[in-house]
Amino acid sequence: RMELIQVRNLKKYYTIRGGFFQRIKSCGKAVDNVSFDIFDGETLGLVGESGCGKTTIGRTMLRLIEPTGGEVYYEGNNIFNLSGGALQAIRRNMQIIFQDPFSSLDPRMPVGESIMEGMRINRIGTRKEQFDMMIDVLRKVGLEDYHARRYPHEFSGGQRQRIGIARALALRPRFIICDEPVSALDVSIQSQVLNILKDLQEEYGLTYLFIAHNLSVVEHISDRVAVMYLGKIVELAHRAELFYNPLHPYTQALLSAIPIPDPAVKRKRITLKGDVPSLFNPPKGCRFHPRCPFAKDQCLVEAPPYREVQKGHFAACWLNE
Ligand code: SF4
Repeated sequence: RMELIQVRNLKKYYTIRGGFFQRIKSCGKAVDNVSFDIFDGETLGLVGESGCGKTTIGRTMLRLIEPTGGEVYYEGNNIFNLSGGALQAIRRNMQIIFQDPFSSLDPRMPVGESIMEGMRINRIGTRKEQFDMMIDVLRKVGLEDYHARRYPHEFSGGQRQRIGIARALALRPRFIICDEPVSALDVSIQSQVLNILKDLQEEYGLTYLFIAHNLSVVEHISDRVAVMYLGKIVELAHRAELFYNPLHPYTQALLSAIPIPDPAVKRKRITLKGDVPSLFNPPKGCRFHPRCPFAKDQCLVEAPPYREVQKGHFAACWLNE
């Protein structure tokens, strides 16, 4: 399959300054030299504990936050080199859905207007076409025509997320970053929203980067899954491969926390020691070593390479070397 998105050596550093000369006191690498591809029409799941940098990756890819370095290619065009109209044309194809759609909706604007606003800014269609498109996307996400006249506070969390999806969809994007779109919703509502996303993907051939903080959410929606720890991707593989043959102890630990219905599959139970260390003071060597049950001397001093261990299966751990 063709790559729609290529991320190369993406970096986003945050600095803390202090003292009389406002010197840089410490630097937190929220995204530390991360590279991956997203194929046309697939869903890549991106999983990690809060503070690992996954949300920063999503926002940096769309330049909602300026990157410290690296490149992001959309169909071969480096979007970090574009500006003006060329950037806007590509940005229309790359949309984002947030965990809390309420914060991105104007509380004083009927949601129908909010949905049309994006089309207006991007000069898509006439006013009549914008209206028809707005009604069309509302129906596509399972809402009714009369909802267009209602205000954000009149909707439930699940409905607001549908509006967030409708708003992104109205611009006819090819790629959508779903940034924890169901984390704030009840479990019963979660699967409804996930099903809508799946149906829309099929209908429009959408490509997703689906960000979540646990593996069980991405299991059903992803074709491939990437696991992040402290600013780096530590493992990336096809879903089944990652779930049944995890190569990184961190992935193994995340998986061992998910109950398996199939008794034939055996997983070692791994309990992680300690908390996630700070990005501003990451451990030397393998960043996972203070919590890793398999850490050896080498892990304390030298970071393992991130490489393709088996075909299509990437990992960064000395156990695989
Ligand atoms: Fe654990 Fe060492 Fe592998 Fe890091 S490199 S995950 S510390 S075994």
